[in-house]
Amino acid sequence: MSNLLPVADSVQVRRYARDLFRRYPRTLGVTVALHVLAAVAGLVGPRLLGDLVEAIRHGQGVGVVDRLAATIAGFVVLQAILVRFAYLASARLGERVLATLREEFVERVLALPLSTVERAGSGDLLTRTTRDVDALSRCVRFAVPETMIALITVALVVGALVITGPLLALPLLVAVPIIVVGTRWYLRRAPAGYLRQNAVYSTVTDGLAETVEGARTVDALRRERQRIDRSDADLHQSWLAEKYTLFLRTVWFPVIEVSYVLPVVATLLVGGWLYLRGSVSLGQLTAAVIYAQLLIDPLDRLLSWLDEVQIGAASLARLLGVASREEPISSYEEPTGSRIEVRDVHFSYVAGREVLHGLDLTLEPGERLAVVGPSGAGKSTLGRLLAGVHEPTAGTITVGGVPLHDLPLDRLRTEVALVTQEHHVFIGTVRENIAMVRPGAGDDEVRAALAAVHALEWASALPEGLSTVVGAGGHALTAAQAQQLALARLVLADPHTLVLDEATSLIDPRAARDLERSLAAVLHGRTVVAIAHRLFSAHDADRVAVVEDGRITELGSHDELVAADGPYAALWRSWHGERAPDPGEPAPAR
Ligand code: ADP
Repeated sequence: MSNLLPVADSVQVRRYARDLFRRYPRTLGVTVALHVLAAVAGLVGPRLLGDLVEAIRHGQGVGVVDRLAATIAGFVVLQAILVRFAYLASARLGERVLATLREEFVERVLALPLSTVERAGSGDLLTRTTRDVDALSRCVRFAVPETMIALITVALVVGALVITGPLLALPLLVAVPIIVVGTRWYLRRAPAGYLRQNAVYSTVTDGLAETVEGARTVDALRRERQRIDRSDADLHQSWLAEKYTLFLRTVWFPVIEVSYVLPVVATLLVGGWLYLRGSVSLGQLTAAVIYAQLLIDPLDRLLSWLDEVQIGAASLARLLGVASREEPISSYEEPTGSRIEVRDVHFSYVAGREVLHGLDLTLEPGERLAVVGPSGAGKSTLGRLLAGVHEPTAGTITVGGVPLHDLPLDRLRTEVALVTQEHHVFIGTVRENIAMVRPGAGDDEVRAALAAVHALEWASALPEGLSTVVGAGGHALTAAQAQQLALARLVLADPHTLVLDEATSLIDPRAARDLERSLAAVLHGRTVVAIAHRLFSAHDADRVAVVEDGRITELGSHDELVAADGPYAALWRSWHGERAPDPGEPAPAR
């Protein structure tokens, strides 16, 4: 898939990850301190064991031995307690960071222009919201704290070894070249490998989502074989990508295993020789070998979680990438007035296939414009451009003198709104369902919006009034009520211009009677562009624009256009069945 959403680069990922943890300096500080204390408590044991060996060798009394043994036991218990609180602290930190990540991701997704989501396909977004968020939670919950703990432990153990006997720390160095070379080899290949693995997985999801969404078409056209072949091909790519990362791990892991054992062996050999020469005591040697052993566990964790950190970083790159193309607009000019001007606008969905060929149109504040024309002429496309969903390929659309696309999305929505059939009821209270378009709106405003669409009566009569939870699992609303909520939301958002696309319009014919009143109330006082696929409202509009083949061919009032006896008059007559349309005439739309 060439249109997958962008992916952030490694610099962005690193900067974001760092800033994310810096937002919780106190929790981070407490967590690190607890882990350091726990690790230190763990290091006292081997040292005391060494002393124990010396004590016994020099034939000291049972009292000394008992005291040493009791102290060792005490530190083990202390370590256990510290570890418990340290893990609790890092789990807290992890959950907080994760919650922030999730919230910011949702914000990014919601801020995406509709056209970007459509271009990318829902599969990619779906994979990112499920698989990548999962991978990242695993990383933040486990990999990040484990890596941090392991790093602390390794540093402290090496420190303890140096204190025990600097010479005894030297054998550790044999592991360094193996780990460095092996890990660098791995890290140079892993990020790209995991990114590819995830990208290919998005393609698999996209293909499957497409097959499911188009199941009827697939069935009708007998395209099953083709779809299966496509899935097979995608899965094969996915398999290859997984196989590659597996290969990386199968090389890296054994190399690392060897590097763990070598220092212990080397410490024993070199330490034994030093002991025979009398340079170190048996107690020092004992402690050093135990320390070398103690390094294995944190090193192993460090390196194996490094793998998860890589996977997490790849997922984070994909999550951050969702927003990396469309930077938020920070400064913009305020529109003066609400006149919308379309100047020489061209538009193509696909390069080389222009759908609109140079439109000019001025919408006077408060006017009603009906857009009519044959199916496929470009009416809905014009509507989407007017609502700022798509940006013109050439030419400009301005509101109050400012190009629509210079306005941030939430600002744009207070100027123009596209009214669609999407009347989703969100899980939440009635109040939240309406106020969501203007965070901070008070109850008075919510009530006024409900009253404007004649919905205040039933909304107040709900079991808990505005606080009644609606949406999936909540209080069930009728289709008409759901639509009224959507209309109330529009009233509160208060755009001066509405684009009504009849093909996807809000009005459910079964509930049309009641809702027409509500809709009329919402339209009152606003500029309205009605895409009239059925010439439904053309008659009542102030002006009618006839769109044919991507051009506005006629523009004027209903009466003027009927009198002119052009394409509109023909459409009108055929719509009314006054006269059978000429074969050459454009058919009335849908
Ligand atoms: P109308 O609303 O007048 O029926 P549309 O604006 O829906 O016409 O479509 C105008 C042209 O643009 C048609 O040729 C249609 O096939 C094409 N078109 C519409 N939507 C898309 C899209 N998302 N991608 C590519 N082409 C599209």
